[in-house]
Amino acid sequence: MWLVLAAISSGLFFSACSSVQDSPPISIGIPQTPIRPPVVYPVQPPVPLPPVRPSPPVVVQPPRPPQPVVPPVVVKPPVTPPPVRTVSNRVQLPNLPVPTLKHRVLGNDWVSFEAWGMSRGKAEFSRFKEGQTVVHRLSIAGQTVELMANDRRGEWQGAQFWLGFSTKFFQEHLYVHQIDIQKLMEPLMGRLPQLGRVVVIDPGHGKDNHGTKSVHDQKLEKELTLDWALRLKPLLEARGWKVHLTRTKDSEVSLEERVAFADKNKAALFISLHFNHASPEVQGLETYCIAPVGVPAHLTRGPADQPKVALVNNQYDTRNVQLAAVIHKSMIEQCEMADRGVRRVRFMTVLKTQKRPAILIEGGYLSNPEESRRIATPEYRQKLAVAVASALQ
Ligand SMILES: [Zn+2]
Repeated sequence: MWLVLAAISSGLFFSACSSVQDSPPISIGIPQTPIRPPVVYPVQPPVPLPPVRPSPPVVVQPPRPPQPVVPPVVVKPPVTPPPVRTVSNRVQLPNLPVPTLKHRVLGNDWVSFEAWGMSRGKAEFSRFKEGQTVVHRLSIAGQTVELMANDRRGEWQGAQFWLGFSTKFFQEHLYVHQIDIQKLMEPLMGRLPQLGRVVVIDPGHGKDNHGTKSVHDQKLEKELTLDWALRLKPLLEARGWKVHLTRTKDSEVSLEERVAFADKNKAALFISLHFNHASPEVQGLETYCIAPVGVPAHLTRGPADQPKVALVNNQYDTRNVQLAAVIHKSMIEQCEMADRGVRRVRFMTVLKTQKRPAILIEGGYLSNPEESRRIATPEYRQKLAVAVASALQ
């Protein structure tokens, strides 16, 4: 099924709407690698939009006794086994002897995926033939990563992420760039972080900065992101978070002010909410965080990408991608949308100077007829809110 998408993806163009208010025109900077096939969902009839209202919390916790020190909140580790993609043409291949960690021909930049996994302790490794592609699957302590030969996409716990560099397939073994091992594989397979209790939720756009517009009902992105944030707030509060919104009404807030707001409130986390736009056929969920130094951006805007430049937020590389992966996985599991993966960027003003783990979520494409119809329903926006909240226990 990876192959089917190779054809589909070649015509797509990608866009993230997060910095519409301060950016020059879009330039597309990602390679035309295949993506997973879009999932087709039954079309739902239009539902009249109710006024924005906070939703009842799903889980009501009993009042807590006063605590002198607020304990950190731990991002919930996965408790369910990772879903295995049901691929009809997947054929298991016999395992081969584990190669050396670094192949002398490929050099020090390239690390054997299998040897790296084995070096981390009790790992299970398997190989599959899927159409013309070879998939390598590694499970360590209940966490599973799948990578494809000569491809930039992978899956962690069944949700897609993007490597900085395509894998190399050499002498029947798969090799991963050492910076992806260090900045992506280790964080994904490592211990999930302990996080503080204060989160800033950032409904994208506001007032004259409308964001994009729904092709279904012409509703503006700024209204939909605010609705998502207002639904998310009580859900997080019920889980013990102190929640600050960068805006609670249709007001103008610059990107710099949103970052300063997180500083002022001593936020432990920053989550920006958006909806996306592109050509009509593009659909799915994306989650963004800042690219580590040395990792090419998956999307650029305005000036050319500068992978060697360190940004303030780079000190949170590990937690950024862990947070992005945990929330993205939760959304993919709960929202029944196509998966466009966890990706990394450098241009997003609202992320790059954050002094805390920070991500930006694109909750679907308002330019896609089917997705815009779904986004118009309160039920879908509630699903988005529940998916984000439930990832942050
Ligand atoms: Zn936006």
